[in-house]
Amino acid sequence: MWDFETDPEYQEKLDWVTEFMRTEVEPLDFVALDPYDKKNPDVLATLRPLQQQVRERGLWAAHLTSELGGQGYGQVKLALLNEILGRSRWAPSVFGCQAPDSGNAEILALFGTDEQKRRYLQPLLDGEISSCYSMTEPQGGSDPGLFVTRAERDGQSWVLNGEKWFSSNARHASFFIVMAVTNPEARTRDKMSLFIVPAETPGIEIVRNVGVGTEGSGSADHGTHGYVRYTDVRVPLDHVLGGEGQAFAIAQTRLGGGRIHHAMRTIAMARRAFDLMCERAVSRQTRQGPLSNFQLTQEKIADSWVQIEQFRLLVLRTAWLIDKHQDYQLVRRDIAAVKVAMPQVLHDVVQRAMHLHGALGVSNEMPFVKMMVAAQSLAIADGPTEVHKLTLARRTLKEYEPADPVFGSGHLPTRRAEAQARISP
Ligand SMILES: Cc1cc2nc3c(=O)[nH]c(=O)nc-3n(C[C@H](O)[C@H](O)[C@H](O)COP(=O)(O)OP(=O)(O)OC[C@H]3O[C@@H](n4cnc5c(N)ncnc54)[C@H](O)[C@@H]3O)c2cc1C
Repeated sequence: MWDFETDPEYQEKLDWVTEFMRTEVEPLDFVALDPYDKKNPDVLATLRPLQQQVRERGLWAAHLTSELGGQGYGQVKLALLNEILGRSRWAPSVFGCQAPDSGNAEILALFGTDEQKRRYLQPLLDGEISSCYSMTEPQGGSDPGLFVTRAERDGQSWVLNGEKWFSSNARHASFFIVMAVTNPEARTRDKMSLFIVPAETPGIEIVRNVGVGTEGSGSADHGTHGYVRYTDVRVPLDHVLGGEGQAFAIAQTRLGGGRIHHAMRTIAMARRAFDLMCERAVSRQTRQGPLSNFQLTQEKIADSWVQIEQFRLLVLRTAWLIDKHQDYQLVRRDIAAVKVAMPQVLHDVVQRAMHLHGALGVSNEMPFVKMMVAAQSLAIADGPTEVHKLTLARRTLKEYEPADPVFGSGHLPTRRAEAQARISP
């Protein structure tokens, strides 16, 4: 069965989400609170009643299976939801699917012990706390082979030393999931382990809260990517997540989901820029009439529409493949393709929308500059575009066999001769 329609029951839920987002959630983006700051009573007081409505609608933590406390909708339905939620910074927290907590919850659920789940996963799923994923190091994030943060066994503890860079939400986190080298002699994929580190553990120092783009490092404008130093940070032996040497494999699971979820939300951002561009085109007047009268404006609209729709179909097909195979490894090429396309589509659409708004477009009175920085960030976070292009190309090339090195298999005279030989041997 090949179908592009949403079933009516789920469509009803999506219609409710669209209205709920417009009236209750999107306005929150303009208040000076950070949805990740769960220690702030004003944030909780704002979130709680909205989260309750989401729960009553059966939409809480939609990224998780029902055994893990989610809805078990699968990735296609999640995509249809996330392409609405991506309109607002607050929405994922209201719906219980915010990164990096969503990825952390997933690996805790899959690889955690019962005690780890009780202590760290449950409050995370209940929306009571925030968490941090602390993997990238200052000397190079794209290549885990360069990581040097060390964890050494000392009696009944592991002792962590090192520095991590761009650990998002470090300052709001109740616990950190930290990647550290436990066996320096092993090959990259076996030499690191993941540790659950409670935020109150002595030795954790947030050197700086780094912002992206124009974000400040103060609290209101939430520069929130932690440059974190771990000095003799001691955790009990049972705080390893998923076994010694397993960090690399677990990270792949986590990042596979994270990448496709970012892509789902990116559709919303691109559509927002597109809507503003179209609105501007029909509103802004010149002596020859509205901007929309110009063919060069129409080309911007057409190119953007095609890019967004192509990207959305790629995301939905990849989501469908994940549902079908239930194994991110089998869908790695498709996820890499989505990761490569995502920043380019957002960049191109936002650039056109920004340009059509003239000076207003580049000003701090419109959302385009933030969207542009988001596009650049999406080209880097979870691995830069180049690395994903390599994955895509290598996986694809494995499907090909060498042919004649001079003329290949598409050489017309050779094919003609072969065809002729079949007809008249
Ligand atoms: C908004 C945001 C949030 C983030 N949140 C987190 C988080 O919560 N936790 C966390 O651990 N990390 C996080 N990161 C870090 C992110 O994972 C790293 O930035 C990413 O892995 C790239 O590492 P890097 O910044 O050190 O860049 P580098 O590794 O220095 O790469 C810089 C550039 O070099 C080129 N390059 C690098 N390697 C290759 C290659 N193999 N082939 C070709 N070209 C290459 C590319 O052009 C690349 O963009 C976040 C980053 C951003 C932007």
